[in-house]
Amino acid sequence: MNSLKKFPDKFIADLKAIINPRDFVTDEEKIKPSLTDWVGYADGKSSLMLTPRNTEEVSGILKLCSNYKIPIVPQGGNTGSVAGAIPNGEIILNMTKMNSIREINPNDYTVTVDAGCILEKIHELAIESNRFFPLSIGSQGTCTIGGNISTNAGGISVLKYGNMRDLVLGLEVVLPNGEIWNGLRRLRKDNTGYALKHIFMGAEGTLGIITAACLRLFPEITEKATAFASLRNLDSCVDLLELLRTEGGDSLSSYELIPDIGLDIAITYGEEIIEPLSKRYQWNVIIEFSGTKNDGAAKLNLENTLNTAIENGIILDAIIANSLKQANSIWKIRKAIVEYQPRLGGEIKHDVAVPISNVPEFIKEANDAVRRVIPDIRPVAYGHIGDGNIHYNVCPPLEYDHVSFKEKTEEIHKAVYDIAFKFGGSFAAEHGVGVVKKNEMLRYKSETEINLMKLIKISIDPNQIMNPGKVLENKKY
Ligand SMILES: Cc1cc2nc3c(=O)[nH]c(=O)nc-3n(C[C@H](O)[C@H](O)[C@H](O)COP(=O)(O)OP(=O)(O)OC[C@H]3O[C@@H](n4cnc5c(N)ncnc54)[C@H](O)[C@@H]3O)c2cc1C
Repeated sequence: MNSLKKFPDKFIADLKAIINPRDFVTDEEKIKPSLTDWVGYADGKSSLMLTPRNTEEVSGILKLCSNYKIPIVPQGGNTGSVAGAIPNGEIILNMTKMNSIREINPNDYTVTVDAGCILEKIHELAIESNRFFPLSIGSQGTCTIGGNISTNAGGISVLKYGNMRDLVLGLEVVLPNGEIWNGLRRLRKDNTGYALKHIFMGAEGTLGIITAACLRLFPEITEKATAFASLRNLDSCVDLLELLRTEGGDSLSSYELIPDIGLDIAITYGEEIIEPLSKRYQWNVIIEFSGTKNDGAAKLNLENTLNTAIENGIILDAIIANSLKQANSIWKIRKAIVEYQPRLGGEIKHDVAVPISNVPEFIKEANDAVRRVIPDIRPVAYGHIGDGNIHYNVCPPLEYDHVSFKEKTEEIHKAVYDIAFKFGGSFAAEHGVGVVKKNEMLRYKSETEINLMKLIKISIDPNQIMNPGKVLENKKY
């Protein structure tokens, strides 16, 4: 109980009247996993975690927090990459117990779910109704829909289906004063003034608690064709994408860049990953075509398109998976890069986006820039280039001192982000800002944008209790 002495007694008593004792967590061991993130950016602290089970409880908690001006940090699966869900002494509002499916409407192609639902559960539910929910990210077994919406998550299907923002029809949000906004509409068309739902999407929990969402579903995918192809050179990635789009149309669902060093990481450290081609090339891509007919058209189309690409000299070699096992082995290459890259002596990460046609120039210029900071640095540029998103991570030279490498972090960040900015790009493509990229917000966002954001923040959360110090500095505007 001592750990709660910083809170007024009456506040604690009123909280306990709102939620079940099981959902009022003070046990340090139970809170511990919520204080660190998987990237190792954060070392948080909190003495109280609340795990509400319904919207009314969230509303009661926020009303109390607002009255007492006590800040909270919303948390879903805690898989975020920018320390946005990590508390710095605040109360944690963990949403994972709010995980019911409220309604599925196959005819409307919609599903309405609580915000704490795990993403993978939505995938499974959609398939049971012969439908498809397309958001696909490496953390899908742990991350929640509320976290996906709050970070506007991306992933490997954005080029066909869009970001999380594009997959949400309606939201239910508890505002910082406890008021419940029921915007759970199932409409494709609704031009009734300001699109309020968009303010809460990508807001990283700084404006309110998303308690439920109505999501778009799509026809079930019954056929997939996966290929691993080696590019003639980096510039060819744009030509190949153009060809795949022209020939594949709507079938093209993923297009991911894999550099040779990434393949090396995957083969060296990953499990059950088979060398995809007999020879290694510097730049490669994973391509996926998908369809709803199960008539072999996706595979045939991909095969014909890759033959054309070889004839045109855009690619040098390619393999199309002949079995699910082979397809999984190809996708494991992509996943293994995320997991095992730190084994190369650490990494400095960048989640940037540039216009697709600038991807090759961006990578080349960024490579030159980081090599000016540390000559033998090892860039690992990979990821969702089908939508212009590059995970431009760098590892230290062999035998390089870990501490000296970390000391260069800011210099390397600036070198990379300056180049993305030069191409009209973004320093935070799909992971958000959190606490990690607040400096970049001030450096690269215009004063007009920052001021508008501050105006929105202060008008919705005048007591600034929502996720303080994330995205924007927490101060009186
Ligand atoms: C292996 C791996 C692969 C990944 N791949 C991708 C990828 O391809 N694309 C991608 O975009 N991301 C990726 N991520 C990052 C991460 O999974 C996403 O950012 C995800 O959307 C976070 O969801 P979460 O439930 O874990 O949210 P959390 O990490 O718990 O929270 C993220 C942010 O949302 C806020 N928040 C959470 N729930 C709510 C709510 N109900 N209401 C209001 N605010 C809330 C938090 O305060 C925080 O600011 C990956 C992460 C891992 C570990």
